[in-house]
Amino acid sequence: MAIIIDKATCIGCGNCLPICPVGAIALEDDGKASISEACVMCGACIGECPVAAISREATGEAKPACDLTQWRDVWVFAEQQHGAVRAVAFELLGVARRLADDLGQRCCAVLFGSQLDDAQAQSLVEAGADVVYVVDQPVLKVYQTDPYAEALCRLAREKKPNAILIGATADGRDLAPRVACELNTGLCADCTELGVSGASQLVEWTRPAFGGNIMATILCPQHRPQMGTVRPNLFRRPERQPGRAGIIEKVHLPDLAPSRTLLEAVVAVCGEACRIEEAAVICAGGRGMGCVENFALLHELADLLGGAVAGSRAVTDVGWLPHQQQVGQSGKTVSPRLYFACGISGAVQHLAGMSGSETIIAINKDPAAPIFKAATYGIVGDVREVLPHLILEIKKAKGLA
Ligand SMILES: Cc1cc2nc3c(=O)[nH]c(=O)nc-3n(C[C@H](O)[C@H](O)[C@H](O)COP(=O)(O)OP(=O)(O)OC[C@H]3O[C@@H](n4cnc5c(N)ncnc54)[C@H](O)[C@@H]3O)c2cc1C
Repeated sequence: MAIIIDKATCIGCGNCLPICPVGAIALEDDGKASISEACVMCGACIGECPVAAISREATGEAKPACDLTQWRDVWVFAEQQHGAVRAVAFELLGVARRLADDLGQRCCAVLFGSQLDDAQAQSLVEAGADVVYVVDQPVLKVYQTDPYAEALCRLAREKKPNAILIGATADGRDLAPRVACELNTGLCADCTELGVSGASQLVEWTRPAFGGNIMATILCPQHRPQMGTVRPNLFRRPERQPGRAGIIEKVHLPDLAPSRTLLEAVVAVCGEACRIEEAAVICAGGRGMGCVENFALLHELADLLGGAVAGSRAVTDVGWLPHQQQVGQSGKTVSPRLYFACGISGAVQHLAGMSGSETIIAINKDPAAPIFKAATYGIVGDVREVLPHLILEIKKAKGLA
């Protein structure tokens, strides 16, 4: 639905120019505004025009791509690694359970793998799934795009889910668009909130847009399944309900095509210290750490507390830490029990990735640094002085000094 300017009505006032977030509007030699191909069709300019010269191109009424009434239930793709369901699957089940209850439908999990332990499917039931579809075949042992995408598409075509939630992990980000494209439906990536719209009973997928300046709520009214990815660590894992009953349905998908790519080996690029998504303690450093050598202090603190080391974008951009360890809007979202923010100012883009932490301890030499507003405890001081003291005291408490 393109945005169009009616040249006959336009008075060339220029009101629409500054409101365009992508600079797609210009005044031409004829004194009238025009829109370039850079337009992202956000429609922000429409309300700014004093003479209503800007509008959306009229299109015919969209028709459903399928019989929408046949598609029911809210699914979670339950990612597993080394045979164990990953934490993000449980977080998504909490959300899916809420959506399913609002819609009066079932909450289901889909588990792919090879030689899976029955306890894994049961753990999904105990986290809120009414049904777990288990596809246990050798070709699904580790994640590979082709067989996983084919398996999820075949299962979805057969069972017709209303919505599918997938973790925005490396594998999930690979799988979700492939499946959405194959199923001829939409996909909202990196959602931060999910709900159900009252009247239409559609899933509302909300995510930051335009560099985090606005929150956009996206609907998928005419295609099924409705699909979205959700970042790990955004939602709390639901309480386990031991002994909860549910259906575990083993599905065999004959003739799943093998992958066209050969997975030779999985090479870990980092050890425990940089696995920040599932760490209970994170020692994060920012530009205020001063230099890469000072990160040794954060590694020492992390070792003592069994935690991981992370950083702001300022430090990953200059190469003090790898990008996999960046926390924030364009990095990872984390929710540890304890988050140390050392020499980090607390920009909104950083807070977006760590404000779900249970306890935040900020160390910053500027008492007005915004990070102190988000912190549970704040220490005003130089990280190079505070951290050695802190490390020493922890060592003493542990009988190591
Ligand atoms: C689209 C977009 C996406 C972004 N995504 C991210 C993201 O994912 N993650 C992210 O972190 N940022 C992100 N940013 C960048 C963000 O806006 C900030 O620029 C960045 O977080 C700043 O990093 P910092 O706090 O380490 O550095 P600074 O803002 O430079 O802050 C350094 C802090 O250290 C303190 N300090 C200095 N010396 C010392 C000392 N010796 N002891 C104690 N304190 C000291 C200072 O008082 C200051 O508060 C993004 C920006 C944009 C536009």
